[in-house]
Amino acid sequence: MLADLPNIKVIKMKGMKCACGKIAQYKEHLKFNNYDIDGWECSCGEIYYNPERVEKILLLNRLQKMKYHLKLSRAKSNLILRIPKEVSDVLELEGGDEVELGLKGAREIIVHPMEMGK
Ligand SMILES: [Zn+2]
Repeated sequence: MLADLPNIKVIKMKGMKCACGKIAQYKEHLKFNNYDIDGWECSCGEIYYNPERVEKILLLNRLQKMKYHLKLSRAKSNLILRIPKEVSDVLELEGGDEVELGLKGAREIIVHPMEMGK
């Protein structure tokens, strides 16, 4: 997937023909559902979002409404929390990745994925 990236980037940088006949310009920072997204913006006002990113944002929105009931397991003195596959997939987390864990109050645990050196 990463290997495809430079190729995709080149295609995205080009303009895209809009339905109005003009060329929509590639923009890196557009807003979609409060997310930063890339896409093409035409002078007629039409915006074409990067479809891959749109799909991911819609999935993120859906997962944010989910509550997972999980069972902790034990490894020696530590407890293990298993992150559901659809969550790790959309957040692009893999075994070996680092996360930051903190407490928020007495009954809430916050887990932040660390930014990868992309
Ligand atoms: Zn247009």
